[in-house]
Amino acid sequence: MTDRVMLDIETLGLDPGATIVALAAVRFDADGVGDTFQRSISMTSCQRAGLTIDAETLDWWLAQDELAKEQLSGGDRLADVLEDFAEWYGDADEIWANSPSFDCDILSAAYDAVGLDEPWDFWNERDFRTLSSFEAAPEPEQAGVEHDALDDAVHQAEIAAETLRRLGEPEVKA
Ligand SMILES: [Mg+2]
Repeated sequence: MTDRVMLDIETLGLDPGATIVALAAVRFDADGVGDTFQRSISMTSCQRAGLTIDAETLDWWLAQDELAKEQLSGGDRLADVLEDFAEWYGDADEIWANSPSFDCDILSAAYDAVGLDEPWDFWNERDFRTLSSFEAAPEPEQAGVEHDALDDAVHQAEIAAETLRRLGEPEVKA
């Protein structure tokens, strides 16, 4: 069985080097969603690691729902969260995101900033934006809070799981 992970991060910038305030992920396959990972990250620890805050993105956050905004305060040390995520990720086969050029690249830069290796290789990256653009992809309402990292990751994973079910889940090539 293919070990698939759907990743979602919430950031204070749109480019690699941006501060990450929340990191969430969920395992999924054509049968549905499984184990989850969810952590809030301290902005101060990101700043100490040399990550930046983009004023325009911060303005955007301030206009969001209170529940989503809660992700901006508190949180654990960046390096601790990244180590824990690497352990949780293990030897997964695929890391999905909407899109990898956002979530995976920004997360990878954060691993660099604290001197750790990200737990995946670029060839493990899969684009949810591509899969969800197929006719076979359902378009359900999001049950949780939009822009909450875990709710977003679960929502995306449920859509991906259903789409894989409808298309016939592909075998991963060795
Ligand atoms: Mg999100």
